[in-house]
Amino acid sequence: PAARVRGMGTSVFTEFTELARRTGAVNLGQGVPELDSPAVLLKDVADAVLAGSNQYPPATGFPALREAVAAHQLRRYGLEGEVLITTGATEALASALLALCDPGDEVLAFDPCYDAYPAGARLAGARLVGVPLAVDGDGFALDPDALRAAVTPRTRVLVLNTPHNPTGKVFTAAELAEIADVCREHALTVVTDEVYEHLAYDDARHVPLASLPGMAGRTLTISSAGKTFNVTGWKIGWVCGPAPLVRAVASAKQFLTYASGTPYQEALARMLGSVEEWAAELRKTLSANRDLLSAGLERAGLRPYRAEAGYFLQADVRPWGYGDGTRFCRELPERAGVVAIPTSAFYQSGNAPSWLVRFSFCRRPESVRKAVEQLVAAS
Ligand code: PMP
Ligand code: GLN
Repeated sequence: PAARVRGMGTSVFTEFTELARRTGAVNLGQGVPELDSPAVLLKDVADAVLAGSNQYPPATGFPALREAVAAHQLRRYGLEGEVLITTGATEALASALLALCDPGDEVLAFDPCYDAYPAGARLAGARLVGVPLAVDGDGFALDPDALRAAVTPRTRVLVLNTPHNPTGKVFTAAELAEIADVCREHALTVVTDEVYEHLAYDDARHVPLASLPGMAGRTLTISSAGKTFNVTGWKIGWVCGPAPLVRAVASAKQFLTYASGTPYQEALARMLGSVEEWAAELRKTLSANRDLLSAGLERAGLRPYRAEAGYFLQADVRPWGYGDGTRFCRELPERAGVVAIPTSAFYQSGNAPSWLVRFSFCRRPESVRKAVEQLVAAS
């Protein structure tokens, strides 16, 4: 194989999903929802297929969905710009990095980070540099000095994921302002990953970096339908931003997949207008799951961190006598019939807190309850 894929192997999600399948353990590893989707959305897809909406849409996306995404960005965040529909946020990320990076460039992302960023950078011939988030009590915080120290003359792009996988962190207004300062000072282009934009709980508020002063012209904002509507298998995402940048991303995207699933786009175009009501209910379910999991981990003697958003929370496994989260996760199916994922798998720099593991709570409440009971029994 070519150098760009050598050693990539299979992702940590594939490995631990396979472990769950093999052992029959409750899978709180991969962030794959077990929750319902809006019934009207499912019916609309079926109708679209039966009505013959089965050929290529325009390469940039089904026009009604592009309009719905543009309206969503304007209504929620006051953002205007071009929209490109992609095959999930994953293709948007890869296409953006292919479109923005030359070989030898450096891409910054906060560590821990989602595995598609280092892989996407590498496919583009660039290198991802992980900027560690500081562990701050039971949460994570931006370390502005670490960010400034990571910028070099080769730095081209910063990838920002908020709400954040794997920590459940929402970047604060002060942190976003700090990041925006660095990007403006060093003329960095920003790619944001906002796939959990609708899943900020309690008082946490999601703010796109593009909405900060001076950022709209240098930011590509990426999101997708997967997490918002529990349809991760549909793989419909989008990228929004200034026309010249979005056009560059479209140049790459057209030769990866050309276009993305027509009936899904048609149905989502109708659904996105009523996302607010749907998302409010989904947040209730997910934040109740988070509370259930967090309290359960506590009862089991593990130390859960705070999670403000998304699908995941971190737990410190040292109280069970483990210094190594990977060993914990490999032994957990046997010991408790539960699968989790070692947080060290998300670190690019050598600074992983090796005692952290990630549990996902995007499952049916019964599954979370069952996992918790088993963890408590095994503690
Ligand atoms: N970004 C983050 C932070 C994610 O957790 C995921 C997980 N699904 C993705 C991107 C991928 O999104 P999609 O399925 O739309 O490609
Ligand atoms: N985003 C999901 C997670 O973090 C997994 C997506 C995938 O399997 N690539 O668990």
